[in-house]
Amino acid sequence: MTDRYAVIGNPVAHSKSPQIHAAFARATGQDIAYERLLAPRDGFAAAVRAFAAAGGRGLNVTLPFKQEAFALAATLTERARIAGAVNTLRFDADGPLGDNTDGVGVTRDLVQNLRVALRGADVLVLGAGGATRGIVAPLLAEAPRTLTIANRTVERAYALAADFAHLADVRAASAAALEDRRFDVVIHATSAGVRGEEALSWPDRLFAPGALAYDLAYAEGPTDFLRWAAARGAARCADGLGMLVEQAAESFRLWRGVRPDTRAVLALLRR
Ligand code: NAP
Repeated sequence: MTDRYAVIGNPVAHSKSPQIHAAFARATGQDIAYERLLAPRDGFAAAVRAFAAAGGRGLNVTLPFKQEAFALAATLTERARIAGAVNTLRFDADGPLGDNTDGVGVTRDLVQNLRVALRGADVLVLGAGGATRGIVAPLLAEAPRTLTIANRTVERAYALAADFAHLADVRAASAAALEDRRFDVVIHATSAGVRGEEALSWPDRLFAPGALAYDLAYAEGPTDFLRWAAARGAARCADGLGMLVEQAAESFRLWRGVRPDTRAVLALLRR
């Protein structure tokens, strides 16, 4: 019988994960079906249980449920435990295993695909939600000079920085506190725009000479954040499609025991 997987979130209609996993399955000869699952914002755990009870084998978890998925997992991988957020569930006999592949997804895309030098760089992450939790420790492992997290609700940035303080000196900041700071890499990890809300306005002069603007979100053309960044001096811009494919490959490996080649699938999606 075909094994069933899905991406669960709210909203979830925009997700390209079904296309990616279908391409991985074709390339590796795996028999899987992969769908989108819209969960009510107050009904995540029930939707996960129903999917597992109906024979589902695993889920990718997207916004806003990554911290709820962490709480729901019976066991956790080390990287999910450090992140405090889960983007991949595998339904094992002894309960759901929670993993977090966002971090490896973003660092593979930045370092291997885009050849960005993170070592010694001043890095800024905008947003302090589930995605940021997943990427902080893997970013720190690349030895940036500084890592700053800024968030609309500044208390969440402080709480998140404190959770990672045992790894390195992670700084937290409000938008206003970024006024006189310049960064080599600015990673946009907010969900602004996903629900049609207006984005918070960040200071205009965030980008150091040669800086990269990286948006975890992706769209047909440049995202709103990347357009904004290019107009304010970002020398390079990249969206999160590469990260999406890289984190998906790592989820696929957890579920199926084989890591698909990502280059071909990324090239296909870019076309
Ligand atoms: P989340 O847990 O819901 O967190 C949302 C974050 O966005 C919070 O920090 C929130 O700030 C902030 N935010 C929401 N609306 C905003 C606005 N109008 N202006 C400024 N900040 C705003 O979401 P998430 O799971 O972290 O996901 C964040 C984004 O990353 C989403 O677009 C998601 O699709 C993307 N993502 C992409 C990949 C990929 O593979 N490419 C992987 C993971 C995530 P407050 O704390 O103030 O509410």
